[in-house]
Order: sequence, then structure tokens, then C-alpha cells
Amino acid sequence: MSTIVALSTPMGRGALAVIRLSGPDSIAIAQRMGLSEVEDRKATLTTLTRPTDREVLDQVLLTCFRAPHSLTGEDVVEISCHGSPAVVRSIIDTTLELGAVLAGPGEFTLRALSNGKINLAQAEAIRDLIAAQTDAAVKQASRQLNGELSVALGPFNEKLIEAIVVLESALEFVEDDLPAPRIQQIEQELAIVSAGVERLAKTFAAGRLLQEGIKVTITGRSNVGKSSLFNSLIERERAIVTDIPGTTRDTLSEAIDLEGIPVILTDTAGLRETTDGIETLGIERTRRAIGDSDLVLVVLDGSTELGPSDHDLLGETEHTRRLVVRNKSDLPGFAASSGCMGARQPINVSARTGEGLTTLRSAILASLHNNGVEDGGLLITNARHYDLLCNTQRELEAARSALREGHSEELVLAPLHNALRFLGQITGETTTEDILSEIFATFCIGK
Ligand code: GDP
Repeated sequence: MSTIVALSTPMGRGALAVIRLSGPDSIAIAQRMGLSEVEDRKATLTTLTRPTDREVLDQVLLTCFRAPHSLTGEDVVEISCHGSPAVVRSIIDTTLELGAVLAGPGEFTLRALSNGKINLAQAEAIRDLIAAQTDAAVKQASRQLNGELSVALGPFNEKLIEAIVVLESALEFVEDDLPAPRIQQIEQELAIVSAGVERLAKTFAAGRLLQEGIKVTITGRSNVGKSSLFNSLIERERAIVTDIPGTTRDTLSEAIDLEGIPVILTDTAGLRETTDGIETLGIERTRRAIGDSDLVLVVLDGSTELGPSDHDLLGETEHTRRLVVRNKSDLPGFAASSGCMGARQPINVSARTGEGLTTLRSAILASLHNNGVEDGGLLITNARHYDLLCNTQRELEAARSALREGHSEELVLAPLHNALRFLGQITGETTTEDILSEIFATFCIGK
């Protein structure tokens, strides 16, 4: 196994930078660079030098973590040096000269995974935690890092293995057909597992929004104040940076942090080419933007009568998740109420004075909470986990119908094994070996 090295703090200048080494030669490399006394888990002030020419590289704080009690399960050395790119480079170069290799992306976590320090879901949580940009995303990633997902999946795993054990042994002793009540009982237990898996999978609707951000599209005819509203919503909020395409400054989208939840606002103002009416191209693009969004803000000018294009848009968005926003409440011509516009009351705002924006923000968040974000429960935030849960549930349902239709054990067992495999893939834990030894231990078949 190679010894890997990498800068663990961001590139650039700072008071400190942390370089990490992991692998069998970590401590030997540190010793060759000047570490005299190896004390486990104790920061030691050390002057690092290059062995070839005795050149002093930096005075650093160096900490050794002996295997297996380290982040990766291997010998790990952490070097806190001065945060200069030149210092960092010379230290890393020297470790390379002494036999270390540059770590690949995520390689420390990968080694922690293969050494059983964390499971797959936790490894993914580390990645998500580092990528998290809002409080809500941090909270979910921390929960997963603490192993909450594996804990939640534990009972499903157990129940599945129980059912498999019973069916496998019935298969083994051909003369002992399972009595009907027992089959019914298994079917019911699988129904409970299936419902639980489904419930967990469904939290992905909210989890996805936490991870990717809720997409809010601002639409309305020209001059109702879409851009003004877009700007005033953004200015009053902390802008966040995301990797989501189309959320950079030069596009019409911007990501903001609304009480810990990422919201990606898209202004469709630039999508129209004419000043009045919705022309064909505009309609197409607006429709696409609306189709892609989780919530649509239909902006009207409350200081004037509604025109045909306002009515078109209200009709167009009637069956989408939307909020009707009446802007320009500061103008004298603004009528406080404008009759019925669908089931929900329109929200009166002034992009100019900021009046009503708090209500609007709460309404945007409320639409999220309908998706279960506020639940406080564990949310599935990862598409891979979601797919595996859906696959698990599909296999469970297949096993249940095979049971109900009185098929042979083999036909029930095949989908059950698949379900267990899918569940195991979430945490990377279950293997067929586990099932075999479980069966062997429980039944002592003696073969
Ligand atoms: P858009 O075409 O829908 O994006 O509309 P704009 O944001 O460009 O606004 C059109 C005009 O309405 C501009 O002159 C804005 O200054 C004005 N406007 C926007 N919001 C308000 C508001 O709340 N109050 C008042 N009085 N004027 C507004």
C-alpha cells in the first residue's frame, strides 16, 4: 500500500495550511524530515528539513496517529505548516522525494472506507458535508455522517434476513412445507418493511430540494417588476455559490440562502423579446422554465388592470405549484384586493419599498415545508440512495406477490436476495457471506 500525501486545507495564503500523509511510510517520512520523537496523537513542534541538502522548510506542528486509530485506519501524519503556497509546495515535494505519492480525489476517505472506519453512506456524507452551503444541508450531512441512515436501515435488513432464513430452510427441508399462516405472516412482515422503505424513499423529494435548492421561477408580463423583485429578494439575502448550471451572475438565476435552505431564483424577464404580449418564443422558454421549477411566482402589477397576457399566464400556471404576487403596492393606484385568483390569496408586495417581502419569503418556504423539509426526520439527500431504496421496494413487492400467489420458495427468495443486496449497497455492508453465515449459525443444519 502506498503512502499518500495531500494538502487538506484550501489552496492559497492563510495563517495555516494542513498537509496530510497516510500510509505505512508516513511516520518514517516525517522522521526523515526532522521529527525526532514519535508521540502518538500529540502535536509536536518540529523543524522540517529537506534530507538531501538540509534546507529548512518550515517550523511546523506535527501530529502522528498510529494505525488503526486514525482517520484512515493507517498511520497518519498531520502537518500544520505556515499557509504559504511556496512552503506547502516544498513540504509536499519533499514527501514525494521520500516516496509518498499524491493522493487522488477522496482517497483518504476511500482508505477509511476500505479499512472499515466508515461505511459507504458515511463516506458520501463527508463529501456532502464539505459541499454543504446552508445550515439545513449541514444538518442532514452530519446526521448521515453519524450513521443515522445505517441505523434507519438496520431493522429493514434484519427483517429481510429473518424472512430469507425461514424460506431458505424450508427449501432445504423439502418435506417441511411452510404452513399457510406462516407464509401469511412473512408476507405481512415484508409489507411493513416495504412501507418503511417507501416512506424513507419519499423523503428524497424534500432531501433533493435541500441538496440542490428549491427552484423558484419568477414570471409575469413585461414591466410588472420581475427584475426588481428578483433583485430585492437577492439583495436582502446572502447569495450562495452553487455548482448548479445557470446560477452564475451572468445568467438570470441566482442562489440564495433562505433560512438555511438553498433557493435558486430564476428571472424570466429576459426571456421575452417584445414589450407586450407573450410571443411564441417567449412562451416556449417561459414554459420550460416553469416546467423545471419547484415553485412559480406569477407577478402582476397591482396598480393597473390585468391585461390579456396576465390572464393568459394565470391560466397557464393554474395547475402548477405557484404563488400569485401583486407588485407595486406602494403606488396610489394599487387596489388592496383584486378578486379571486385561484385557491390562494395573492401576496401583495412592493419590490421598491420592500413591503410584503417577508410574507413572500415565508410563503416560498411554506411551499417547501409541504414537501416535508421541516419534518425534522432523516431525509434521503442522495440520488444513489434513492434509486437503491426504490429498487429495494420493487423487489419486496415482487416477493410479496410471489408469496400471495403461492409460488415456490425459490421464486420468493430471488427478489428478497435482490432487495437485501440493494439495501446493502447503500452502506456497502451486506454481502452474501453474511447471509450464509447467518443461516448457518441460526439453523445448524449440520451439512
Ligand atoms: P420586469 O419587466 O417585469 O422585469 O419589470 P422591472 O423590474 O424592469 O420593472 C418595470 C418598472 O416598474 C421599472 O420602472 C421599475 O422601477 C418599476 N417597479 C418595479 N417594482 C416596483 C414597485 O414595487 N413599485 C413601483 N412604484 N415601481 C416598481
